[in-house]
Amino acid sequence: MNIHEYQAKQLLSKFGIGIPAGHAALSVDEAVAGAKQLPGPLYVVKAQIHAGGRGKGKFVELPTDAKGGVRLAKSIEEVEAHAAEMLGNTLVTIQTGDAGKQVNRLYITDGVDIASEYYLSMVVDRATGRIAMIVSTEGGMDIEDVAHNTPEKITTITIDPAAGFMPHHGRAVAFALKLSGDLNKQAQKLARQLFDAFVALDCEMLEINPLVETIDGKLLVLDTKMSFDSNALYRHPDVEAMRDETEEDPMEVEASKYDLAYIKLDGNIGCMVNGAGLAMATMDIIKLNGAFPANFLDVGGGANKEKVTAAFKIILSDPAVEGILVNIFGGIMRCDTIAEGIVAAAREVDLSVPLVVRLEGTNVQLGKDILANSGLPIVPADDLGDAARKIVAEVKQAA
Ligand code: ADP
Ligand code: MG
Repeated sequence: MNIHEYQAKQLLSKFGIGIPAGHAALSVDEAVAGAKQLPGPLYVVKAQIHAGGRGKGKFVELPTDAKGGVRLAKSIEEVEAHAAEMLGNTLVTIQTGDAGKQVNRLYITDGVDIASEYYLSMVVDRATGRIAMIVSTEGGMDIEDVAHNTPEKITTITIDPAAGFMPHHGRAVAFALKLSGDLNKQAQKLARQLFDAFVALDCEMLEINPLVETIDGKLLVLDTKMSFDSNALYRHPDVEAMRDETEEDPMEVEASKYDLAYIKLDGNIGCMVNGAGLAMATMDIIKLNGAFPANFLDVGGGANKEKVTAAFKIILSDPAVEGILVNIFGGIMRCDTIAEGIVAAAREVDLSVPLVVRLEGTNVQLGKDILANSGLPIVPADDLGDAARKIVAEVKQAA
């Protein structure tokens, strides 16, 4: 799960991390009220969307020479004008895709006199099974470009989970940022605070770009992105409450209500499968037969009628879907139970596209009989290859 910059800053400030003051705003009035609570004379109006690259982004509705999604303002009046121009409009950045994202929230924050910009992020590194801190002196830029053009300017420090964060990790971070004196000490302290926050909040990723040194010698977090391990959210109701569903794909939101792992893709064959590995194999074999999957969908081990019906509805609400392939392995869940679920769901949603079903596992013959006797035009398949060939042929025939 992702959250907005202002929310991430609220969380980080609880760990004592240096953040410029700021206020979130949903309207021009709130933006003005927020600015009035800041000392001035320099303010920054920042679009809050779940994507980076806002500063260099472009608003679809504004002239091409209009400013982007991070704007400096030298007075309350300028804050007001920027807020009015940004709210409700669509910002396109390198991370939003061409459709862009509508700006519904702003963050009004203190303008900072920047001496230097740095980069610092943390991820769970699957290769080492440890939390990695990635630091670079090249802040404020696209880190992908830095990694590509000047990889020697990026330092990665991994932290052994058993020993935890040690003073030498902090020194390594400060050294990689080429900081000396008090700034060096601040960087060591910040690295520990960030590590503590990352672990305590069950983060998946935490990126600070830029981390800045101010002209009066302070290290401040100017921009931050945070994402969380969804499996751990039950431990953090305060974080869960920060979810902004308007930033997510509506079908993925609907799927998450039923605990279905759903990801929309570009093809025309909807897939309903149990188990992530089987779902991947099903997508592969559809491609092997010259077609493309419309989605990844794992209904999980305990797929019951309610889940299967919800899954059908989600797949069919995608106008690109021209056929559905159900590929279920009945292990703990028996094939006859699944077949009953499929028949009931197909009736309930008034199925309008070809449906191929491959069942295998416990009580498979009972399951096949239920499908065959249902009176519905369900095409049975014997194995994965047969199922993929049949759904591709059915869709071609229907077209
Ligand atoms: P994004 O990464 O989405 O473009 P940032 O918050 O990183 O958004 O802002 C882009 C740039 O704007 C920063 O690299 C920094 O130079 C400048 N900036 C952002 N916030 C402030 C601030 N509070 N004071 C001064 N400059 C800022
Ligand atoms: Mg940034």
